[in-house]
Amino acid sequence: MKGRPVRAEPYLDSLDVITGEVIGRFEVTTPAEVSRVVEHARRAQREWAQVRVTVRAKLLDRLAEVFKARRNEIAEVVTRENGKPLAEALFAEVLVSLDSIRWHASRAERMLRPERVGHHNLIFKGKRGRLEYEPWGVVAVISPWNYPIAIPVTSIVAAVMAGNAVVLKPSELVPWCGALLGELFDQAGFPVDLVQVIQGGGDLGQALIEASPDKVFFTGSVATGRKVAEMCARRLIPSVLELGGKDAMIVLSDADIEAASSAAVWGSFTNCGQACLSVERIYVEPGVIDRFTDLCVEKARKLRLGSGLEPEIEIGPMIRRQQVERVERQLKDAVARGARILTGGRRRPELGECFFEPTVVSGVDSSMLLMQEETFGPVLAIQGVADAEDGVACANDSAFGLGASVWTATFARGEAIARRLRCGSVMVNDVISCYGITEAPHGGRGASGWGRTHSRLGLLEMVQVKYVDSDVFPRGPKPWWFPYNRGLIEMAEGVFEALFGSKPLDRWRGLGNAWHGYRKRQR
Ligand code: NDP
Repeated sequence: MKGRPVRAEPYLDSLDVITGEVIGRFEVTTPAEVSRVVEHARRAQREWAQVRVTVRAKLLDRLAEVFKARRNEIAEVVTRENGKPLAEALFAEVLVSLDSIRWHASRAERMLRPERVGHHNLIFKGKRGRLEYEPWGVVAVISPWNYPIAIPVTSIVAAVMAGNAVVLKPSELVPWCGALLGELFDQAGFPVDLVQVIQGGGDLGQALIEASPDKVFFTGSVATGRKVAEMCARRLIPSVLELGGKDAMIVLSDADIEAASSAAVWGSFTNCGQACLSVERIYVEPGVIDRFTDLCVEKARKLRLGSGLEPEIEIGPMIRRQQVERVERQLKDAVARGARILTGGRRRPELGECFFEPTVVSGVDSSMLLMQEETFGPVLAIQGVADAEDGVACANDSAFGLGASVWTATFARGEAIARRLRCGSVMVNDVISCYGITEAPHGGRGASGWGRTHSRLGLLEMVQVKYVDSDVFPRGPKPWWFPYNRGLIEMAEGVFEALFGSKPLDRWRGLGNAWHGYRKRQR
């Protein structure tokens, strides 16, 4: 860590996203302190790994109780720090977390049990194989500001159920959410140092990786993800990277356009468009594009902007000015290339610095930044396509590959198209909600990253697989051992025929030859 800048301020301020008022103040962890944090985590983990999974589950049950009891407080902190409306904080943060906690508490034990491995090969029938799942040790979770509770929680609970300790580095934009998480785990009675939260900026994330945790779960932008991947590669630390998205929505002419337009509006504007699974590109077949576009405009215009603490508010502010500027830059480029803004497209300074109107754009194409880069803002972009084939080609024409959706009245057709889309998850006739389905793996391809969180696959990312093999007949013949001789070569010929011969008779003859070679070898 020598020579790297250490944060000067001893505190990190939590700001109300609308007013900019300081609503909390949290002690910053200096990069120099991180190795001690990891060391403590390592010590806690050694004991935790000995605790039975059923006992770990009981603590998760308690955590669920704490989450449930404090749900409104959690939601309010999220809304104030991050800006999303209370309803979104309750559903997308608290409910998703709670469901994941309960699911891990009730199912993880079964999923982590050693698994018998049967041997198909006759030669190895005398052995018993099994897979054992062992924790990595200390898992680093580096998380973004956009879902400051649900994203870290789903990883942390999988990690601890699998026997790991966790060091969480939340985004410096949401330190209160991070501190609250630490508090909730403490209140549930998790052992000291098993789940630790460190507070600071990107330099602290870097220091955490430099402290050599055993695995890194990173969620964030492609640019930072690339740096994290490089740092992990240098240290041979395995990583899961959940990066940006540019999700496509394909609307076929037989789709329910009323439902599809509502989904497009919610999918593009929920969390003010700042969701990794946001609907960012919409491809619509001819015949329905005009009606679809009109409905999207009509519904977008009805959305209410303001402080998410008020129950009727649907659109809060964006997280920071740079995010607003990125949206404006993309819109400007799109308009210069021929796109049309049908509604929105401007800031609402009277509400606060980072409010931007829900914006519907038509006439877009793949030459525009709006259809190439992640927007991460309240923009619904509609492009007409010649047919479903064209829609699939456009959807796949992206460096990202996180999620997508297909809208059609014909399930079979929707699922056939889903199979052809290059991404981590596809929904037919819905958007985004797969993130809340705890059994559904979450993760992407290409620039959207690698590895999975959520589901059994996410749980298995939290363990190292060990193969254990017991020979029931240790004195049984091991012809492949020394000494080697001509008899062994003859035996090998027989074995090849016996195992892989194309006709039954050849296989029997092979068995005879193998036996003959074996006897010859013994002499
Ligand atoms: P960033 O990449 O800016 O930050 C993510 C986390 O990494 C933050 O905690 C950040 O700290 C930290 N960080 C910054 N620099 C470094 C570094 N050099 N080494 C280690 N850690 C570092 O992403 P955002 O927070 O802006 O999140 C938005 C992005 O996340 C979008 O691209 C979105 O698509 C993606 N995302 C992906 C999801 C998925 O599941 N695929 C889910 C949610 C979001 P700090 O903030 O303090 O600087």
